[in-house]
Amino acid sequence: MNAPAQRPVIIETREVSKWYEGSAGRQRIVVLDQIDLAVREGEILALLGPSGSGKTTLLRTVAGLVEPSGGEVLYHGKPLRGVNPGVSIVFQSFALFPWLSVLENVMLGLEAQGMARKEAREKAVSAIDMIGLDGFEDAFPRELSGGMKQRVGFARALVMEPEVLCMDEPFSGLDVLTAENLRGEMLDLWLERKIPTKSVFLVTHSIEEAVLMADRVVILWHNPGRIAQVMDVTLSHPRDRKSPAFHKIVDGIYTVLTRPAELQSQGRMRPLALRRFQKLPHARVGALTGLVELLHDRGGKEDIYELETDLGLEADDLLPLTEAASTLGLATIREGDIALTDLGLRYIDGDILERKEVFCEAVAANVVLVNQVLQALRSSRRQSMDEEFFLELLENHFTREEAERQMETAIDWGRHAELFAYDEEAGELFLEKPEAGQEAVEGEETGE
Ligand code: ADP
Ligand code: MG
Repeated sequence: MNAPAQRPVIIETREVSKWYEGSAGRQRIVVLDQIDLAVREGEILALLGPSGSGKTTLLRTVAGLVEPSGGEVLYHGKPLRGVNPGVSIVFQSFALFPWLSVLENVMLGLEAQGMARKEAREKAVSAIDMIGLDGFEDAFPRELSGGMKQRVGFARALVMEPEVLCMDEPFSGLDVLTAENLRGEMLDLWLERKIPTKSVFLVTHSIEEAVLMADRVVILWHNPGRIAQVMDVTLSHPRDRKSPAFHKIVDGIYTVLTRPAELQSQGRMRPLALRRFQKLPHARVGALTGLVELLHDRGGKEDIYELETDLGLEADDLLPLTEAASTLGLATIREGDIALTDLGLRYIDGDILERKEVFCEAVAANVVLVNQVLQALRSSRRQSMDEEFFLELLENHFTREEAERQMETAIDWGRHAELFAYDEEAGELFLEKPEAGQEAVEGEETGE
């Protein structure tokens, strides 16, 4: 096979952007921002990014299921109109028809294309065979385990003999062992050229999965989704996750994924006061404290990939924690390593009361949303406000779902810092202590 860059291009996105118009008067939400990407013959291309970074949207755009708001998708050099005829998709959620048997599920696409029933049946049977489902032709999805259901998902996509097999986190709905198994089998089929497809486009949030399988990894940053870097992975198969070379590539990816947090820890982001909004990582104070404690146990500094492996966490779970530690100034991130700051050390060395103080200081100095809430509460006559007020404001920048998560994080942090309180039932935020100036001087520091 030629060097990756010379392989013929099957699908290409040119400056593809996707945005969703907010409801009346709201700003548009940009999900993908000017993505240039080529899917080439003979490769497994992994699209890697944190959840919410626009991976599914990009995959669906490539498949012609989502129309770009800007830019275009080319299929064999021609603008794509409608559904891409060269693509089949394996979905994370399996997406099988429950009332159809395994065989019928696999045959469906062929019949929809107008293939005669007998021929469709033969093709389906051989796809089912190849994927290790022999003997399950007449079973119904509800009778199958998750791993078996996803095998049906693969058979159904492969029977179409697509040029590009698109997979949207196909292993992430499965338990670890089943996923590992199926991943290995799929890779073997591909390497032995048994899969009737010219290339594979794999969407994943797992760094290890990308490095285990792909020839090229496209790393997506989020908010908006932008290509941060493209990396070639030239390790031969089977790849050994414990090898130094594997480790080095994963480390490199962590370095790219954590770069925004790194810039932030170096103070190279815009000063807080000038930023209109900031996207908070979804990290609970409890888990964040756990991370800081662990770092302290390890001498104050650690390779993020080591942390992931030792904690048995996925990058998707760990990165919000490291990002939160960096946002709050408790740690700094550099080239895939995370190290406690002096503030982080003060936090960890303190007793409960001191920890609260440090946390309060960190939140007040670094978190826009908590400051906005505080300011609004202070200026409100009742010193209390409806959570909905803030959600509506956040919806200028985020989807409703994301706005709710932003608020959840801000409330968790703000409460922990004892900057404000929250009545969950009423959805009401209020100042715990009356502010000086509103009431007669009362002695601020009342402790608990
Ligand atoms: P990923 O697959 O990387 O998790 P998605 O592509 O599913 O990310 O979503 C990216 C962002 O786009 C998310 O913030 C999501 O809420 C938003 N989004 C996706 N579809 C729509 C839609 N139809 N309307 C508004 N926002 C959407
Ligand atoms: Mg997705």
